[in-house]
Amino acid sequence: MALTKSIGKLSEILSEEPGINLGYCKDHARCNEAFCEMCKYMICPSCLMFGSHQGHKVLDPAKAAQVIRERIAKTQQLGKLAPEYSERFLLDIRDAKIKLAKTQTVAKDQVQESFKSIINTLKRRKEEIEDAVYTHFTDEIEAVDKEEIQWIEKQNLGKKLLEFSNSPDDEMLLNNSFTIMSAIDVLNESSRVKSASLINSVDLTSNIEGKEVGFAQIVRICDSIGKFGEIKNIQYRN
Ligand SMILES: [Zn+2]
Ligand SMILES: [Zn+2]
Repeated sequence: MALTKSIGKLSEILSEEPGINLGYCKDHARCNEAFCEMCKYMICPSCLMFGSHQGHKVLDPAKAAQVIRERIAKTQQLGKLAPEYSERFLLDIRDAKIKLAKTQTVAKDQVQESFKSIINTLKRRKEEIEDAVYTHFTDEIEAVDKEEIQWIEKQNLGKKLLEFSNSPDDEMLLNNSFTIMSAIDVLNESSRVKSASLINSVDLTSNIEGKEVGFAQIVRICDSIGKFGEIKNIQYRN
């Protein structure tokens, strides 16, 4: 049975390697005594007999040390322990990092610039339309105000003429004849129909190259602006 075989080995190990401090097993509060080859881990006898390493192949510490040294040496022979080995990959990776950072800045700037232009255009257009609405209503109200003043004057002329006619004083009537006749002319002017134009709504349709684009459509267009353009993959060795 694998377990008894392993335990047998473990007792051999114990007699062979006194004195080496292999650390302490936190799970079993015992000293570690063997190397679990499967888990690459120093373990205590309880780990092997009852713990999570049951049935795992173990090595005695001296053998384990030898195996580990051999593995290091092999890796060294392949040149993989020299800093220059990692350096080649690091150069590639760092180059990729720089390219990523640069491209991020370009993309960020592009988004900022493009949206600034849309936002500024909308702001300007809003102000233009607001100005147009303001100017229109100011002009219309001014025109109506003028008419009001004229009719207040006519009302006063009417009152004055009544006063003249109610007075028996012919002398005063004759001395004011020009004023009186002019007032009568003014009051007899035929009335004209004036109109004021009201803007009940603002049409926010846009005409683009002869094509009508509704406001809801414009909003929809704004709502879906922007996606990733060309995506370029850069490779780095790993
Ligand atoms: Zn243990
Ligand atoms: Zn194990």
